[in-house]
Amino acid sequence: MRTYFIAGNWKMNKTFGEVNILLSQLKKLLADISAIDIAVCPPYPYLSLSVDILKDTDIDVGAQNMAWEKSGAYTGEVSPDMLKDVGCTYVIVGHSERRKYFNETDDLINKKIKLAISSDLYPIVCLGESLQQRENDETEQVVKTQLSGCLKGLLNKEIEKVTIAYEPIWAIGTGKTATPDQAQQVHHMIRKWIENEYNRDIAESIRIQYGGSVKPNNAEQLLSKPDIDGALIGGASLEAESFAAIIKST
Ligand code: PEP
Repeated sequence: MRTYFIAGNWKMNKTFGEVNILLSQLKKLLADISAIDIAVCPPYPYLSLSVDILKDTDIDVGAQNMAWEKSGAYTGEVSPDMLKDVGCTYVIVGHSERRKYFNETDDLINKKIKLAISSDLYPIVCLGESLQQRENDETEQVVKTQLSGCLKGLLNKEIEKVTIAYEPIWAIGTGKTATPDQAQQVHHMIRKWIENEYNRDIAESIRIQYGGSVKPNNAEQLLSKPDIDGALIGGASLEAESFAAIIKST
């Protein structure tokens, strides 16, 4: 059986003081929750601080991105070993904002996933179609292309470390959510793709999160779908009450 996994992507938000407040509130609100996996993904400067604040809890910390190389002359980049070193468990790779603003391709994302796994981090791999692609009925083809590009060459023991986040671009930060049925349809297709490429056991155990304007008022319906194993949450993870409410709706 798959354990629900809820992760918050803070993007480029929060200051030192705000991180302290948000995480202290979360600790209180989630003190009695233990049956699901939870992670927060703060900006790089607050990773250590977050690991420290959360050290006596079951809430893990993830980064929002990482470099595609282990070390070297890559000014401004952060390596997976550094993330591991400061206590990160997860790393988000291939978020649509990285694809859009930093021209990240499936090929680059594939390199990052392999490097993350070899550095003992669990990658959360984001993919999803644009509004135009959905309206042109290209969702399945686009998602399958992203799956084969991003996961190219991953061995069974590697794919087991991956969480896939299906995030339709038109639903991210827009207040528009895929309906539970729309999301379920794509999640099911992704699971079938994994079964064809790997095997049934892996397909049944891999976790597929939904992301795109998940809020306390729509989380329960989305998370009740059989192939939706959690959520990657942007806006609603910036407030302790809304993030905790989503977690409590699993
Ligand atoms: C995201 O950035 O991954 C995301 C899902 O954002 P939001 O929840 O704000 O749509």
